[in-house]
Amino acid sequence: MGPASRSKTARHRSSLVNVLAHPPPGTILREIHQYLGHIGAPHYRYRQLVLSLQQRGTAFEDLRELPEPLRQALAARFGPNVAPLTPVAVEEAEQVEKVLFETRSGARVETVLSRYRAGWSSICVSSQAGCGLACTFCATGAIGLVQNLTADEICAQVVHPRWQKVIPTFADSIAFMGMGEALANPHTFTALDLLTTPGYGGFSPRRITVSTVGFAPNLRRLAKEHPQVTITLSVHSPFAEQRAELIPLERRFPLSENLAILDEHVVSTRRKVYLAYLLIEGVNDSADHLEELAQLVKSRSRPELFHVSVIRYNAASGADPSYRTPPSHRVSEFVAELDARGVHATRRQQFGSSISAACGQLHARSLLRPRRSS
Ligand code: SF4
Repeated sequence: MGPASRSKTARHRSSLVNVLAHPPPGTILREIHQYLGHIGAPHYRYRQLVLSLQQRGTAFEDLRELPEPLRQALAARFGPNVAPLTPVAVEEAEQVEKVLFETRSGARVETVLSRYRAGWSSICVSSQAGCGLACTFCATGAIGLVQNLTADEICAQVVHPRWQKVIPTFADSIAFMGMGEALANPHTFTALDLLTTPGYGGFSPRRITVSTVGFAPNLRRLAKEHPQVTITLSVHSPFAEQRAELIPLERRFPLSENLAILDEHVVSTRRKVYLAYLLIEGVNDSADHLEELAQLVKSRSRPELFHVSVIRYNAASGADPSYRTPPSHRVSEFVAELDARGVHATRRQQFGSSISAACGQLHARSLLRPRRSS
C-alpha cells in the first residue's frame, strides 16, 4: 500500500466509526467529552473534534471544523494547545529521526521514528521520563525516574504533528521501547486502550509491541487485557545472579516468573513472543551463556513461539563504563549458534547509531547543549 492510500486509510479509520466509545478516564478527551456535555453541545461536535485532531491539529484554534465560539470556549477552558508535548531537540540520520519532547511540567522524553526502505514506518515511544529501575547498561536508568507519562503524553508521541514532515500519516507500528519501563507505569494501559479503540487510535494491537524487563504483575495484566499486543521480554543473561546485576528488577520479579507468564500466554493466544538479548562483549557472550540461553528457550511450553532478538550493545552515557560493544561478526555468530541449536533467533536491525542509538542519550546530551527545534 502506497503512502497516499495509507493516508486515506488513516483518515477513513475514524470516519467509518459513527459512534465513538466514551474516552477512558484520565485523558484530556474524557474531560473535553464531559465539558461538551456540560455546555449542551450537540453529540456530533465531539466526533468532529476527534476527527480534526487526527488530521493533526495542535491548538484548538486549528480545529476549523468546529465553530469559532466553541474553539474559543475550549481554549479558555483547557488552554490553547491540545498537544501536551513540545519538540525541543531533533537528531536525524538516514531512515531515523529522534525527537526530544518536553512535557508541560518540563520533563523530557525521547521518541524515535524509523522508516524502512520497504515503505514501512515504526515509532518508538517513551512511557516514563527517566526510569527508576537502574539497569546498568542503560542511559535512561542513569537519569533516574522523573515521572510517569500520562496517557495523553504517550499517545501524543504517536500522533504529534511533528511527524507530518516525515510521513504522510501515522506510523504503521508502535513500540513501547523508548525511555522507561512501560509496565511500571499504569497509564500505559490507558494509552493502549486509546491507541487501539476504533475511532481513536484505531491501531491493530498486533501492530503494537510492549517491551519490558519483567514487571511481572503488569505483564500478567497486559497478557489478559491486551492479548494480541506483541510482547518483548528482556533476558540479557540466563543466569539469575548475573541478570540481577544487569537488571536489578530480577530480585523482585525473577525471569522464571516472567517466563511462566509467557508460557501461559503463548499457549492461550498462539502468538509469538520475543526475548531480547543485549550482547555485551566479555559479559554475556560466552559459550556457557549461549548454551544456557538455548536450554531456557527449549524448555518453554511452546519453544517454537519464542523468538530471540539479539541486540548489539552500544555504549550509553551513564552505563557501566566497563561494558564493551562486541564486534559485529560476534553478534551474527551468536545468532547462528542459537539457530544451530534449534532456537529461532535473529539480529535486531538497528538504525541511527550515529544519533545516540540508546534511549536517554539525546536527553542526557540535551542537558548540556539543547538545540531548539521548529
Ligand atoms: S532498560 Fe528499561 S527498565 Fe531498565 S533502566 Fe532502562 S528504561 Fe528502565
